[in-house]
Amino acid sequence: MALLRFAPSPTGALHLGGLRMALYNHLYARKNGGKWILRIEDTDSTRFVPGAVDGIRHALEWAGLEYDYGPGKVGSHGPYFQSERLDLYRFYTTKLLASGHAYRCFCSMDTLSEIREKFARTGSSQSYDKRCLHLTEEEAARRVRAGEKHIVRLNNGALTPRRPTTDLVFGHLKDAHGSLSTDPILLKSDGYPTYHLANVVDDHSMGITHVLRGEEWITSLPLHLDIYSALGLEPPQFAHIPILLNPDGTKMSKRNGDVKVEDYIRHGWERGAVLNWLALAGWGTQYEVETSPELEPAKSQSALPAEMPASGNEKHPRATKEAPESTKVMDMDELISEFELSAITHRSSSLDPGKLAFLNRQHLLRSAATPTRMADVASRVRVWMDETRPLGEISDEYTTPEYVQSVIRVLDSRLINIRDMISLAPYLFVAPDYTSAEAQRMIRRVTTEQRNQILQSVYSILENIDTQSWNVSNLHEVTTAEKERMSTPMFLPVVRYALTAMKDGPPNCRFNGGIRQTENAHPD
Ligand code: GLU
Repeated sequence: MALLRFAPSPTGALHLGGLRMALYNHLYARKNGGKWILRIEDTDSTRFVPGAVDGIRHALEWAGLEYDYGPGKVGSHGPYFQSERLDLYRFYTTKLLASGHAYRCFCSMDTLSEIREKFARTGSSQSYDKRCLHLTEEEAARRVRAGEKHIVRLNNGALTPRRPTTDLVFGHLKDAHGSLSTDPILLKSDGYPTYHLANVVDDHSMGITHVLRGEEWITSLPLHLDIYSALGLEPPQFAHIPILLNPDGTKMSKRNGDVKVEDYIRHGWERGAVLNWLALAGWGTQYEVETSPELEPAKSQSALPAEMPASGNEKHPRATKEAPESTKVMDMDELISEFELSAITHRSSSLDPGKLAFLNRQHLLRSAATPTRMADVASRVRVWMDETRPLGEISDEYTTPEYVQSVIRVLDSRLINIRDMISLAPYLFVAPDYTSAEAQRMIRRVTTEQRNQILQSVYSILENIDTQSWNVSNLHEVTTAEKERMSTPMFLPVVRYALTAMKDGPPNCRFNGGIRQTENAHPD
Protein backbone atom coordinates (compact mmCIF):
# COMPACT_ATOMS: atom_id res chain seq x y z
CA MET A 1 0.00 0.00 0.00
CA ALA A 2 1.23 3.48 -0.82
CA LEU A 3 1.97 5.49 2.30
CA LEU A 4 2.75 9.19 1.98
CA ARG A 5 3.36 12.02 4.35
CA PHE A 6 2.92 15.74 4.50
CA ALA A 7 5.65 17.05 6.75
CA PRO A 8 5.36 20.76 7.50
CA SER A 9 7.60 22.58 9.94
CA PRO A 10 5.56 24.57 12.46
CA THR A 11 7.23 27.85 11.58
CA GLY A 12 4.03 29.80 10.88
CA ALA A 13 0.67 29.63 9.18
CA LEU A 14 0.08 27.19 6.33
CA HIS A 15 0.64 28.86 2.96
CA LEU A 16 -0.96 28.04 -0.35
CA GLY A 17 2.17 26.14 -1.40
CA GLY A 18 1.92 23.93 1.70
CA LEU A 19 -1.76 23.32 1.13
CA ARG A 20 -1.06 22.30 -2.46
CA MET A 21 1.58 19.86 -1.26
CA ALA A 22 -0.84 18.33 1.27
CA LEU A 23 -3.45 18.17 -1.49
CA TYR A 24 -1.13 16.35 -3.90
CA ASN A 25 -0.22 13.85 -1.18
CA HIS A 26 -3.92 13.36 -0.52
CA LEU A 27 -4.78 12.97 -4.21
CA TYR A 28 -1.98 10.50 -4.83
CA ALA A 29 -2.81 8.45 -1.75
CA ARG A 30 -6.54 8.35 -2.46
CA LYS A 31 -6.10 7.60 -6.13
CA ASN A 32 -3.83 4.68 -5.35
CA GLY A 33 -5.75 3.24 -2.42
CA GLY A 34 -3.04 4.50 -0.08
CA LYS A 35 -2.89 6.56 3.10
CA TRP A 36 -1.04 9.62 4.29
CA ILE A 37 0.46 10.88 7.50
CA LEU A 38 0.68 14.39 8.92
CA ARG A 39 4.15 14.64 10.47
CA ILE A 40 5.26 17.75 12.28
CA GLU A 41 8.94 18.50 11.67
CA ASP A 42 9.70 20.51 14.77
CA THR A 43 13.35 19.81 15.45
CA ASP A 44 14.42 23.41 14.93
CA SER A 45 13.25 25.00 18.15
CA THR A 46 14.55 28.43 17.11
CA ARG A 47 11.97 28.60 14.30
CA PHE A 48 9.05 27.11 16.22
CA VAL A 49 5.98 29.35 16.26
CA PRO A 50 3.43 28.64 19.02
CA GLY A 51 0.00 27.91 17.60
CA ALA A 52 1.38 26.97 14.18
CA VAL A 53 0.43 23.29 14.50
CA ASP A 54 -3.16 24.16 15.36
CA GLY A 55 -3.22 26.54 12.43
CA ILE A 56 -1.96 23.85 10.04
CA ARG A 57 -4.49 21.33 11.34
CA HIS A 58 -7.30 23.83 11.06
CA ALA A 59 -6.36 24.70 7.48
CA LEU A 60 -6.25 21.01 6.50
CA GLU A 61 -9.58 20.42 8.17
CA TRP A 62 -11.14 23.36 6.37
CA ALA A 63 -9.84 21.99 3.09
CA GLY A 64 -11.30 18.55 3.85
CA LEU A 65 -7.84 16.98 3.61
CA GLU A 66 -8.19 14.38 6.29
CA TYR A 67 -4.94 12.65 7.06
CA ASP A 68 -5.05 8.99 8.01
CA TYR A 69 -2.39 9.16 10.70
CA GLY A 70 -1.05 12.09 12.63
CA PRO A 71 -1.75 14.34 15.60
CA GLY A 72 -5.11 13.54 17.12
CA LYS A 73 -5.44 10.17 15.34
CA VAL A 74 -4.73 6.70 16.59
CA GLY A 75 -2.32 4.60 14.56
CA SER A 76 0.91 2.74 14.81
CA HIS A 77 3.18 5.19 12.99
CA GLY A 78 3.52 7.78 15.74
CA PRO A 79 4.63 9.79 17.52
CA TYR A 80 3.95 12.38 14.83
CA PHE A 81 6.04 15.20 16.26
CA GLN A 82 9.74 14.82 15.53
CA SER A 83 10.56 16.31 18.91
CA GLU A 84 9.03 13.16 20.41
CA ARG A 85 11.16 10.82 18.32
CA LEU A 86 14.60 11.79 19.58
CA ASP A 87 15.46 8.27 20.79
CA LEU A 88 14.95 6.97 17.29
CA TYR A 89 17.38 9.48 15.82
CA ARG A 90 19.93 8.59 18.48
CA PHE A 91 19.47 4.92 17.72
CA TYR A 92 20.22 5.43 14.03
CA THR A 93 23.10 7.76 14.82
CA THR A 94 24.64 5.07 17.02
CA LYS A 95 24.32 2.62 14.14
CA LEU A 96 26.09 5.01 11.79
CA LEU A 97 28.85 5.62 14.34
CA ALA A 98 29.33 1.89 14.83
CA SER A 99 29.61 1.22 11.09
CA GLY A 100 32.03 4.10 10.55
CA HIS A 101 29.55 6.05 8.41
CA ALA A 102 29.49 8.83 10.98
CA TYR A 103 31.88 10.35 13.48
CA ARG A 104 31.79 12.75 16.42
CA CYS A 105 33.10 16.23 15.90
CA PHE A 106 34.22 18.23 18.93
CA CYS A 107 35.29 21.39 17.11
CA SER A 108 34.05 24.58 18.70
CA MET A 109 32.15 27.24 16.75
CA ASP A 110 35.29 29.36 16.68
CA THR A 111 37.42 26.55 15.30
CA LEU A 112 34.78 25.82 12.66
CA SER A 113 34.63 29.40 11.48
CA GLU A 114 38.43 29.55 11.32
CA ILE A 115 38.46 26.43 9.15
CA ARG A 116 35.73 27.86 6.92
CA GLU A 117 37.58 31.14 6.49
CA LYS A 118 40.78 29.32 5.60
CA PHE A 119 39.01 27.42 2.86
CA ALA A 120 37.24 30.55 1.66
CA ARG A 121 40.60 32.33 1.26
CA THR A 122 41.68 29.62 -1.17
CA GLY A 123 38.38 29.96 -3.06
CA SER A 124 37.13 26.58 -1.88
CA SER A 125 33.51 26.01 -0.92
CA GLN A 126 34.60 23.32 1.51
CA SER A 127 33.64 24.15 5.06
CA TYR A 128 35.26 21.47 7.19
CA ASP A 129 38.59 19.68 7.02
CA LYS A 130 37.38 16.44 8.65
CA ARG A 131 39.95 16.73 11.43
CA CYS A 132 37.74 14.93 13.98
CA LEU A 133 37.42 11.96 11.63
CA HIS A 134 40.93 11.07 12.67
CA LEU A 135 40.29 10.94 16.43
CA THR A 136 40.72 7.46 17.82
CA GLU A 137 37.68 5.68 19.23
CA GLU A 138 39.16 5.86 22.72
CA GLU A 139 39.81 9.57 22.46
CA ALA A 140 36.26 10.29 21.24
CA ALA A 141 34.78 8.08 23.97
CA ARG A 142 36.87 9.82 26.63
CA ARG A 143 35.72 13.26 25.50
CA VAL A 144 32.08 12.13 25.44
CA ARG A 145 32.45 10.78 28.98
CA ALA A 146 33.96 14.07 30.03
CA GLY A 147 30.77 15.74 28.84
CA GLU A 148 32.37 17.64 25.98
CA LYS A 149 29.88 19.22 23.59
CA HIS A 150 29.93 17.68 20.15
CA ILE A 151 27.98 17.02 17.00
CA VAL A 152 27.81 13.94 14.76
CA ARG A 153 28.77 14.16 11.09
CA LEU A 154 28.20 11.87 8.15
CA ASN A 155 31.46 10.37 6.93
CA ASN A 156 31.20 10.90 3.21
CA GLY A 157 34.44 9.06 2.62
CA ALA A 158 32.87 5.80 3.77
CA LEU A 159 30.05 5.95 1.23
CA THR A 160 29.95 3.73 -1.80
CA PRO A 161 28.81 5.23 -5.13
CA ARG A 162 25.08 5.04 -5.70
CA ARG A 163 23.02 4.38 -8.82
CA PRO A 164 21.55 7.45 -10.49
CA THR A 165 18.10 8.06 -9.17
CA THR A 166 14.77 8.77 -10.79
CA ASP A 167 12.37 11.38 -9.61
CA LEU A 168 8.73 10.70 -10.45
CA VAL A 169 8.34 14.26 -11.73
CA PHE A 170 11.80 15.22 -12.97
CA GLY A 171 12.88 11.83 -14.28
CA HIS A 172 16.52 10.77 -14.12
CA LEU A 173 18.63 12.92 -11.85
CA LYS A 174 22.35 13.28 -12.12
CA ASP A 175 23.99 11.37 -9.32
CA ALA A 176 26.13 13.21 -6.83
CA HIS A 177 26.95 12.70 -3.24
CA GLY A 178 25.10 15.01 -0.95
CA SER A 179 27.96 17.09 0.16
CA LEU A 180 31.35 15.54 -0.37
CA SER A 181 33.13 18.62 0.82
CA THR A 182 31.52 19.08 4.17
CA ASP A 183 30.66 15.84 5.96
CA PRO A 184 27.21 17.15 6.80
CA ILE A 185 25.90 17.31 10.34
CA LEU A 186 23.41 14.65 11.35
CA LEU A 187 23.00 15.27 15.06
CA LYS A 188 23.37 18.70 16.67
CA SER A 189 25.07 19.35 19.97
CA ASP A 190 21.70 19.71 21.75
CA GLY A 191 20.92 16.10 20.81
CA TYR A 192 18.42 17.14 18.16
CA PRO A 193 18.79 15.75 14.65
CA THR A 194 19.22 17.94 11.60
CA TYR A 195 16.33 18.04 9.16
CA HIS A 196 18.18 15.58 6.90
CA LEU A 197 18.69 12.82 9.44
CA ALA A 198 15.23 13.16 10.96
CA ASN A 199 13.59 13.20 7.56
CA VAL A 200 15.30 10.02 6.40
CA VAL A 201 14.84 8.16 9.68
CA ASP A 202 11.17 9.05 9.82
CA ASP A 203 10.39 8.29 6.21
CA HIS A 204 11.99 4.90 6.74
CA SER A 205 10.59 4.09 10.17
CA MET A 206 7.10 5.23 9.26
CA GLY A 207 7.18 3.02 6.16
CA ILE A 208 6.76 5.87 3.66
CA THR A 209 6.67 4.55 0.10
CA HIS A 210 6.38 7.86 -1.81
CA VAL A 211 7.76 11.24 -0.84
CA LEU A 212 5.94 14.10 -2.56
CA ARG A 213 7.52 17.36 -1.52
CA GLY A 214 8.52 20.78 -2.79
CA GLU A 215 11.21 21.19 -5.42
CA GLU A 216 13.26 23.21 -2.96
CA TRP A 217 14.26 19.89 -1.39
CA ILE A 218 15.60 18.32 -4.56
CA THR A 219 19.09 19.59 -3.75
CA SER A 220 18.91 17.66 -0.47
CA LEU A 221 18.03 14.44 -2.24
CA PRO A 222 21.61 13.23 -2.86
CA LEU A 223 22.39 13.69 0.82
CA HIS A 224 19.22 11.87 1.82
CA LEU A 225 20.10 9.01 -0.51
CA ASP A 226 23.57 8.94 1.03
CA ILE A 227 22.07 8.58 4.49
CA TYR A 228 19.78 5.78 3.29
CA SER A 229 22.71 4.01 1.75
CA ALA A 230 24.92 4.51 4.83
CA LEU A 231 22.19 2.93 6.92
CA GLY A 232 21.68 0.14 4.40
CA LEU A 233 18.06 1.18 3.94
CA GLU A 234 15.94 1.29 0.82
CA PRO A 235 14.81 4.78 -0.07
CA PRO A 236 11.20 5.50 -0.96
CA GLN A 237 10.27 6.90 -4.37
CA PHE A 238 10.58 10.65 -4.69
CA ALA A 239 8.49 13.21 -6.53
CA HIS A 240 9.60 16.82 -6.26
CA ILE A 241 6.87 19.30 -7.09
CA PRO A 242 7.81 22.63 -8.75
CA ILE A 243 7.00 25.63 -6.64
CA LEU A 244 4.19 28.14 -7.04
CA LEU A 245 4.85 31.70 -8.15
CA ASN A 246 2.87 34.91 -8.38
CA PRO A 247 1.39 35.70 -11.80
CA ASP A 248 4.34 38.04 -12.45
CA GLY A 249 6.78 35.19 -11.89
CA THR A 250 7.99 36.41 -8.51
CA LYS A 251 8.20 34.20 -5.46
CA MET A 252 4.96 34.08 -3.53
CA SER A 253 5.11 36.29 -0.51
CA LYS A 254 2.81 38.31 1.66
CA ARG A 255 3.79 41.49 -0.15
CA ASN A 256 2.08 40.29 -3.30
CA GLY A 257 -1.27 39.48 -1.72
CA ASP A 258 -2.69 36.72 0.35
CA VAL A 259 -0.56 33.64 0.68
CA LYS A 260 -1.86 32.13 3.89
CA VAL A 261 -4.69 29.62 3.73
CA GLU A 262 -6.37 31.37 6.63
CA ASP A 263 -6.69 34.54 4.51
CA TYR A 264 -8.65 32.60 1.93
CA ILE A 265 -10.87 31.11 4.61
CA ARG A 266 -11.49 34.52 6.12
CA HIS A 267 -12.34 36.05 2.78
CA GLY A 268 -15.05 33.50 2.10
CA TRP A 269 -13.52 31.58 -0.80
CA GLU A 270 -15.04 28.18 -1.50
CA ARG A 271 -12.71 25.43 -0.40
CA GLY A 272 -13.53 23.40 -3.51
CA ALA A 273 -12.48 26.34 -5.67
CA VAL A 274 -9.23 26.92 -3.80
CA LEU A 275 -8.30 23.23 -4.08
CA ASN A 276 -9.31 23.13 -7.74
CA TRP A 277 -7.18 26.23 -8.40
CA LEU A 278 -4.14 24.91 -6.53
CA ALA A 279 -4.35 21.42 -8.00
CA LEU A 280 -4.46 22.57 -11.59
CA ALA A 281 -1.70 25.16 -11.22
CA GLY A 282 1.11 22.99 -12.48
CA TRP A 283 -0.61 20.31 -14.48
CA GLY A 284 0.84 20.24 -17.96
CA THR A 285 -1.14 20.15 -21.14
CA GLN A 286 -0.26 16.60 -22.10
CA TYR A 287 1.17 13.81 -20.09
CA GLU A 288 1.90 10.15 -20.30
CA VAL A 289 0.07 7.53 -18.33
CA GLU A 290 0.57 3.83 -18.04
CA THR A 291 -2.20 1.97 -19.72
CA SER A 292 -2.20 -0.46 -16.83
CA PRO A 293 -3.02 1.51 -13.69
CA GLU A 294 -0.94 -0.72 -11.38
CA LEU A 295 0.98 1.15 -8.76
CA GLU A 296 4.73 0.76 -8.83
CA PRO A 297 6.04 -0.39 -5.48
CA ALA A 298 8.84 1.62 -3.93
CA LYS A 299 12.16 0.39 -5.26
CA SER A 300 15.66 0.64 -4.04
CA GLN A 301 17.71 2.23 -6.78
CA SER A 302 20.87 0.81 -5.30
CA ALA A 303 19.44 -2.71 -5.31
CA LEU A 304 18.90 -2.70 -9.07
CA PRO A 305 21.43 -4.33 -11.32
CA ALA A 306 23.28 -1.75 -13.38
CA GLU A 307 21.68 -2.62 -16.72
CA MET A 308 18.12 -2.24 -15.49
CA PRO A 309 16.31 1.05 -15.94
CA ALA A 310 16.12 2.79 -12.60
CA SER A 311 12.42 3.49 -12.75
CA GLY A 312 11.17 0.14 -14.00
CA ASN A 313 8.04 1.91 -15.29
CA GLU A 314 8.91 1.13 -18.87
CA LYS A 315 7.41 -2.29 -18.65
CA HIS A 316 3.91 -0.84 -18.97
CA PRO A 317 2.78 0.55 -22.31
CA ARG A 318 2.24 4.30 -22.09
CA ALA A 319 -0.42 6.51 -23.59
CA THR A 320 -0.64 10.26 -23.97
CA LYS A 321 -3.46 12.00 -22.19
CA GLU A 322 -4.68 15.60 -22.31
CA ALA A 323 -4.45 17.34 -18.95
CA PRO A 324 -7.47 19.39 -17.87
CA GLU A 325 -7.40 23.12 -18.58
CA SER A 326 -6.29 25.09 -15.53
CA THR A 327 -9.82 26.45 -15.17
CA LYS A 328 -11.65 23.16 -15.52
CA VAL A 329 -14.15 22.92 -12.70
CA MET A 330 -13.36 19.84 -10.69
CA ASP A 331 -14.34 18.73 -7.24
CA MET A 332 -12.33 16.44 -4.99
CA ASP A 333 -13.54 13.17 -6.52
CA GLU A 334 -12.73 14.38 -10.00
CA LEU A 335 -9.30 15.62 -8.93
CA ILE A 336 -8.56 12.25 -7.35
CA SER A 337 -9.50 10.31 -10.43
CA GLU A 338 -7.60 12.63 -12.79
CA PHE A 339 -4.45 13.08 -10.70
CA GLU A 340 -1.24 11.79 -12.27
CA LEU A 341 2.27 12.66 -11.19
CA SER A 342 3.28 12.50 -14.84
CA ALA A 343 0.93 15.44 -15.48
CA ILE A 344 2.97 17.74 -13.23
CA THR A 345 5.12 20.10 -15.28
CA HIS A 346 8.80 20.64 -14.54
CA ARG A 347 8.37 24.39 -14.52
CA SER A 348 7.25 26.53 -11.60
CA SER A 349 3.61 27.48 -12.00
CA SER A 350 1.99 30.78 -11.33
CA LEU A 351 -1.23 31.32 -9.45
CA ASP A 352 -3.64 33.59 -11.25
CA PRO A 353 -6.21 35.22 -8.94
CA GLY A 354 -8.53 35.65 -11.94
CA LYS A 355 -8.72 31.89 -12.24
CA LEU A 356 -9.65 31.56 -8.60
CA ALA A 357 -12.48 34.06 -9.11
CA PHE A 358 -13.72 32.11 -12.11
CA LEU A 359 -13.53 28.78 -10.31
CA ASN A 360 -15.13 30.16 -7.18
CA ARG A 361 -18.19 31.29 -9.10
CA GLN A 362 -18.43 27.92 -10.82
CA HIS A 363 -18.18 26.08 -7.51
CA LEU A 364 -20.87 28.29 -6.02
CA LEU A 365 -23.15 27.55 -8.96
CA ARG A 366 -22.42 23.85 -8.55
CA SER A 367 -23.35 24.10 -4.89
CA ALA A 368 -26.56 25.88 -5.82
CA ALA A 369 -27.38 22.97 -8.10
CA THR A 370 -26.62 20.45 -5.34
CA PRO A 371 -29.02 20.98 -2.42
CA THR A 372 -26.90 18.83 -0.08
CA ARG A 373 -24.04 21.31 -0.38
CA MET A 374 -26.16 24.32 0.45
CA ALA A 375 -26.27 23.79 4.21
CA ASP A 376 -22.53 24.44 4.39
CA VAL A 377 -22.64 27.51 2.14
CA ALA A 378 -25.63 28.96 4.00
CA SER A 379 -24.07 28.41 7.39
CA ARG A 380 -20.92 30.22 6.27
CA VAL A 381 -23.03 33.13 5.07
CA ARG A 382 -24.79 33.18 8.42
CA VAL A 383 -21.57 33.03 10.44
CA TRP A 384 -20.07 35.82 8.39
CA MET A 385 -23.14 38.01 8.73
CA ASP A 386 -23.23 37.45 12.47
CA GLU A 387 -19.55 38.18 12.86
CA THR A 388 -19.25 41.23 10.67
CA ARG A 389 -22.86 42.46 10.54
CA PRO A 390 -22.42 44.16 7.17
CA LEU A 391 -26.12 45.04 7.12
CA GLY A 392 -26.92 44.93 10.81
CA GLU A 393 -29.48 42.41 12.01
CA ILE A 394 -30.52 39.90 9.37
CA SER A 395 -33.46 37.62 9.85
CA ASP A 396 -32.77 33.86 9.86
CA GLU A 397 -35.16 33.35 6.97
CA TYR A 398 -32.64 35.04 4.65
CA THR A 399 -29.88 32.59 5.39
CA THR A 400 -31.69 29.28 5.05
CA PRO A 401 -30.04 26.94 2.52
CA GLU A 402 -33.00 27.36 0.15
CA TYR A 403 -32.91 31.13 0.31
CA VAL A 404 -29.13 31.37 -0.16
CA GLN A 405 -29.43 28.93 -3.04
CA SER A 406 -31.95 31.25 -4.72
CA VAL A 407 -29.69 34.23 -4.15
CA ILE A 408 -26.77 32.46 -5.82
CA ARG A 409 -28.92 31.51 -8.79
CA VAL A 410 -30.41 34.96 -9.17
CA LEU A 411 -27.08 36.78 -8.92
CA ASP A 412 -25.46 34.16 -11.14
CA SER A 413 -22.73 35.68 -13.29
CA ARG A 414 -22.17 38.66 -11.02
CA LEU A 415 -21.52 36.62 -7.92
CA ILE A 416 -17.91 35.61 -7.48
CA ASN A 417 -17.63 35.14 -3.75
CA ILE A 418 -20.39 34.66 -1.19
CA ARG A 419 -19.37 37.99 0.31
CA ASP A 420 -20.55 39.73 -2.87
CA MET A 421 -24.19 38.95 -2.07
CA ILE A 422 -24.32 41.86 0.27
CA SER A 423 -22.71 44.45 -1.96
CA LEU A 424 -24.50 43.31 -5.11
CA ALA A 425 -27.94 42.91 -3.65
CA PRO A 426 -28.40 44.12 -0.08
CA TYR A 427 -32.13 44.38 -0.82
CA LEU A 428 -32.29 40.57 -0.79
CA PHE A 429 -31.55 40.69 2.94
CA VAL A 430 -32.80 44.01 4.31
CA ALA A 431 -35.21 46.69 3.16
CA PRO A 432 -33.87 48.84 0.31
CA ASP A 433 -32.07 52.00 1.30
CA TYR A 434 -34.01 54.76 -0.44
CA THR A 435 -31.85 57.43 1.09
CA SER A 436 -28.64 56.43 -0.67
CA ALA A 437 -27.12 58.69 -3.31
CA GLU A 438 -27.59 55.96 -5.89
CA ALA A 439 -31.30 55.63 -5.05
CA GLN A 440 -31.78 59.39 -5.24
CA ARG A 441 -30.10 59.57 -8.63
CA MET A 442 -32.43 56.91 -9.99
CA ILE A 443 -35.53 58.98 -9.56
CA ARG A 444 -34.27 62.49 -9.87
CA ARG A 445 -36.08 62.99 -13.19
CA VAL A 446 -39.48 61.95 -11.87
CA THR A 447 -41.93 63.87 -9.72
CA THR A 448 -43.40 62.36 -6.58
CA GLU A 449 -46.76 62.34 -8.24
CA GLN A 450 -45.53 60.51 -11.29
CA ARG A 451 -43.69 58.04 -9.11
CA ASN A 452 -46.77 57.31 -7.02
CA GLN A 453 -48.81 56.86 -10.14
CA ILE A 454 -46.47 54.24 -11.56
CA LEU A 455 -46.18 52.39 -8.29
CA GLN A 456 -49.90 52.47 -7.63
CA SER A 457 -50.67 50.95 -10.98
CA VAL A 458 -48.03 48.24 -10.71
CA TYR A 459 -49.16 47.49 -7.19
CA SER A 460 -52.76 47.00 -8.17
CA ILE A 461 -51.81 44.69 -11.00
CA LEU A 462 -49.60 42.58 -8.81
CA GLU A 463 -52.25 42.45 -6.15
CA ASN A 464 -54.63 40.84 -8.58
CA ILE A 465 -52.35 37.99 -9.54
CA ASP A 466 -53.29 34.90 -7.63
CA THR A 467 -50.51 32.89 -6.03
CA GLN A 468 -50.86 30.10 -8.59
CA SER A 469 -49.94 32.47 -11.41
CA TRP A 470 -47.14 34.20 -9.53
CA ASN A 471 -44.29 33.22 -11.76
CA VAL A 472 -41.67 34.88 -13.90
CA SER A 473 -43.45 34.74 -17.21
CA ASN A 474 -46.75 36.04 -15.86
CA LEU A 475 -45.10 38.83 -13.94
CA HIS A 476 -43.08 39.76 -16.96
CA GLU A 477 -46.13 39.76 -19.18
CA VAL A 478 -48.36 41.89 -16.98
CA THR A 479 -45.73 44.44 -16.05
CA THR A 480 -44.59 44.79 -19.65
CA ALA A 481 -48.18 45.39 -20.72
CA GLU A 482 -48.55 48.03 -18.03
CA LYS A 483 -45.27 49.64 -19.03
CA GLU A 484 -46.51 49.95 -22.59
CA ARG A 485 -49.83 51.29 -21.47
CA MET A 486 -48.28 54.00 -19.31
CA SER A 487 -45.69 54.72 -21.98
CA THR A 488 -43.11 56.48 -19.83
CA PRO A 489 -39.35 55.85 -19.84
CA MET A 490 -39.44 56.23 -16.07
CA PHE A 491 -41.55 53.12 -15.58
CA LEU A 492 -38.71 50.63 -15.08
CA PRO A 493 -36.39 52.90 -13.06
CA VAL A 494 -39.24 53.62 -10.66
CA VAL A 495 -40.18 49.95 -10.24
CA ARG A 496 -36.57 49.00 -9.78
CA TYR A 497 -36.12 51.86 -7.32
CA ALA A 498 -39.07 50.61 -5.30
CA LEU A 499 -37.86 47.03 -5.25
CA THR A 500 -34.14 47.48 -4.82
CA ALA A 501 -33.11 51.15 -4.61
CA MET A 502 -30.24 50.13 -6.83
CA LYS A 503 -29.43 50.87 -10.44
CA ASP A 504 -28.37 47.35 -11.39
CA GLY A 505 -30.68 44.46 -10.85
CA PRO A 506 -29.68 40.82 -10.55
CA PRO A 507 -28.67 39.42 -13.93
CA ASN A 508 -30.67 36.26 -13.73
CA CYS A 509 -34.27 37.03 -12.88
CA ARG A 510 -35.39 34.42 -15.34
CA PHE A 511 -34.78 31.70 -12.83
CA ASN A 512 -38.16 30.52 -11.76
CA GLY A 513 -38.42 30.69 -8.04
CA GLY A 514 -35.56 33.11 -7.74
CA ILE A 515 -37.71 36.05 -8.57
CA ARG A 516 -40.30 35.04 -6.03
CA GLN A 517 -37.73 34.82 -3.35
CA THR A 518 -36.31 38.14 -4.47
CA GLU A 519 -39.61 39.85 -4.03
CA ASN A 520 -40.30 38.17 -0.73
CA ALA A 521 -37.44 40.21 0.57
CA HIS A 522 -39.51 43.32 0.07
CA PRO A 523 -42.57 43.24 2.22
CA ASP A 524 -43.60 46.68 0.95
N1 GLU B 1 9.70 20.09 6.87
C1 GLU B 1 9.89 20.39 5.50
C2 GLU B 1 9.13 21.67 5.19
O1 GLU B 1 8.87 22.44 6.00
C3 GLU B 1 9.37 19.28 4.62
C4 GLU B 1 10.41 18.56 3.90
C5 GLU B 1 9.98 17.26 3.28
O2 GLU B 1 8.79 17.13 2.94
O3 GLU B 1 10.81 16.38 3.15
O4 GLU B 1 8.79 21.98 4.12
